[in-house]
Amino acid sequence: MWEKCNEDGTTGIYSLMKSTTQPTTLTSASYEELVREMLVRLGEDPDREGLIRTPERVKKAYEFLTRGYKEDPEALLRKALFTVTYDEMVIVKDVEMFSLCEHHMLPFFGKVHVAYIPNGKVIGLSKIPRLIEIFSRRLQIQERLTTQIAETIQKTIEPQGVGVVIEARHLCMMMRGVEKQHSAAVTSSMLGCFRKEQETRTEFLSLIRQRTNGT
Ligand code: ZN
Repeated sequence: MWEKCNEDGTTGIYSLMKSTTQPTTLTSASYEELVREMLVRLGEDPDREGLIRTPERVKKAYEFLTRGYKEDPEALLRKALFTVTYDEMVIVKDVEMFSLCEHHMLPFFGKVHVAYIPNGKVIGLSKIPRLIEIFSRRLQIQERLTTQIAETIQKTIEPQGVGVVIEARHLCMMMRGVEKQHSAAVTSSMLGCFRKEQETRTEFLSLIRQRTNGT
C-alpha cells in the first residue's frame, strides 16, 4: 500500500504532507513526516495544538533511546582494563536498565546484575553500567541483551567466568494484558566457571537475592 501511486504520480503519503517538496518514496520522507503519517493513520489530527511538535519530539526521543547503536561496547571496556592479582568475584548489582523491545518498540525495564571472576584483568566498575547502557539503548529482546553483556565481558576481560541476570517488566505485555501486571521476566547468561561450577553460580545468585530482599 505504501508503494501505490496516485494518478498524479504521488503516493498516498505525499498527498498528506503539506510541507513535502521532495519526490515521493518513503525513504525520502523525513522522520517527522513518517510520524505525522502515523498520527493520521491512528485517526488523529496532526495539526491540532498538542500534536504539532509531536513528530519532532518523537524523532528526538527515539534517537535518544536508540543511541547505543553509535557506541562500541568492546572499545569501551578495552580502554578501562587494569591488571590485578585479585581473583574473587566482582559483582555489580541492581543496575537500572531501560530498553525497547524490538517486536513492539515499547519499553521494557528492570535491573541487571553482573558478576565475573577476574583472570589477571579487571575493568573500572563504572564501565559495567555504561556497557549495559550501550546494549539496552538499542532495539532488543531481553534474552539477547543478557547474552550480549555477558559475551562482551568474556571476550574483552577474559575472566574465569561471567554471570549476568536481568529481571525486567515489559510494557508490551503489561499494557496489553498479556501477562499479570507485576510479573517480571528473568533471564540469565552464565559463561566459563559460572556455567561449569554450581558453587560459583549459587554464590552469585544468593548475593543478588540478598540485596533484592534487603537482608
Ligand atoms: Zn514487545
